[in-house]
Amino acid sequence: SPILLWFRRDLRLTDHRALDAAARSGRPVIPVFLFDEVVEGYGTAPQWRLGLGVESFAKRLEGIGARLILRRGRASEILPALVRETGAGAVWWTRAYDPPSRARDSAVGEALEPMEVEAKAFRGHILFEPWTVETKTGGYYKVYTPYWRAVKDCGVDTPLTAPPELKAPDTWPKSDRLEDWRLGAGMRRGAAVVARHVTVGEEAAQTRLGTFIRDRVADYATRRDYPGVNGTSNLSENLTYGEISVRSCWHAGQRALDEGKDGAHDWLKELVWRDFAYHLLWHTPHLMTENWRRDWDAFPWNEDETLPEVVAWKRGRTGIRFVDAAMREMYVTGTMHNRARMVVASYLSKNLMSHWKIGCRWFEECLIDWDPASNAMGWQWASGPGPDATPYFRVFNPVTQLDKFDRDRRYTHRFIAELSGDPPDEARAYFDAIPESWPMAPGDDYPAEPIVGPKEGRQRALDAYAARDF
Ligand code: FAD
Repeated sequence: SPILLWFRRDLRLTDHRALDAAARSGRPVIPVFLFDEVVEGYGTAPQWRLGLGVESFAKRLEGIGARLILRRGRASEILPALVRETGAGAVWWTRAYDPPSRARDSAVGEALEPMEVEAKAFRGHILFEPWTVETKTGGYYKVYTPYWRAVKDCGVDTPLTAPPELKAPDTWPKSDRLEDWRLGAGMRRGAAVVARHVTVGEEAAQTRLGTFIRDRVADYATRRDYPGVNGTSNLSENLTYGEISVRSCWHAGQRALDEGKDGAHDWLKELVWRDFAYHLLWHTPHLMTENWRRDWDAFPWNEDETLPEVVAWKRGRTGIRFVDAAMREMYVTGTMHNRARMVVASYLSKNLMSHWKIGCRWFEECLIDWDPASNAMGWQWASGPGPDATPYFRVFNPVTQLDKFDRDRRYTHRFIAELSGDPPDEARAYFDAIPESWPMAPGDDYPAEPIVGPKEGRQRALDAYAARDF
């Protein structure tokens, strides 16, 4: 009987355990992708980018003689219905670790249980399963460095190769049309702008990894912090939809290290940050939605998204150049440099004293590389309540950060049109990407004064922090 192979954020043929096992079984395989309740909950940009990924992956599957069957609805209803329709004897998928996916997957498991089909989850999209890494006393890790020490020499399986073909079923079930799903329709004007910056699909991701390892990983440690420099891999976009496996990245990094490209050491550590985020999210699911340290619940965060300073933060009009360039980078490219993410998160949560949840949700709406674990960990880390967080009194000064990390102003020039007489295309593109309702035009003056200055905001935040009894 056929195997239903349910794809989610694992849109690749190479190093895919469930796919490999299905191909080797000799049984017919029916690949499925669902617009289910979890996908329904994604923000606009992730949904839109996912749609591009699904389209590309469907073509990859055609190359090995298969089709991607698309269906829409609750996973725990659609999959049992598909089992009945196709006579499938098994439903296999790759494990996910975030709370909404876990809830969905256990509902699917329960729905399939009385049906006598084999429901099986394969090892997922991280290097180490969260429950396999334990402290000496048997708990989970709350601090990154000991986690890194615990895993760095553990060994990561060699990536699997892509199967040459999949056995087709006698008849293919009907499929929805991807266009009818209108995934990410809310992107509207932004879609055309961000589309110039996306790198979609498994083959493109592999090329991206190859180029990075060949040309840039050696200097990663010295160049990764400068947002005006292309010093990082940009693979988050692909990793988040599983267009490339993290094991493939790990092994490529290890090979680079063997070849004497020292920067690969720091890069491997970043891959493990991603793992660590999933380790935390698995053990403490509230990381995604609540203060990780509950004593922070009493902190006087502002939770009003309509405040002028929050609106200015979202629009890239705070008058703080690093923050504004970063927010505009996000609307134009769909991603944001890591240093810039730290700066805008610190500015929102500390200088503006706005709740990190506001920023976390906004990133979830706007980032094409949105990742449930890394985004939540990043926000909680930058704002204070997170595990292994930067101490609250370490408020990034966005002005001195700019002097340090964008000394030649390449980054701000690239994204803030109002700062130059002849702005580059990307700076102009910002005005094509933003909603029509935002009252902004390329000819505007740049704000003469910051909406909240670095010193003023810092002091206010420190006073509030000092008044708390942590
Ligand atoms: P590289 O520097 O080439 O690193 C390789 C890979 O390692 C990345 O692709 C990513 O998968 C992982 N990685 C690198 N840095 C981190 C980190 N700090 N935490 C976890 N994993 C990391 N990353 C996302 O993928 N999605 C998000 O939604 C996201 N939101 C963030 C929000 C905030 C407030 C902060 C501070 C960080 C966030 N990050 C997020 C982490 C990081 O900024 C991005 O992973 C990184 O900028 C991606 O660029 P790259 O692929 O060129 O990374």
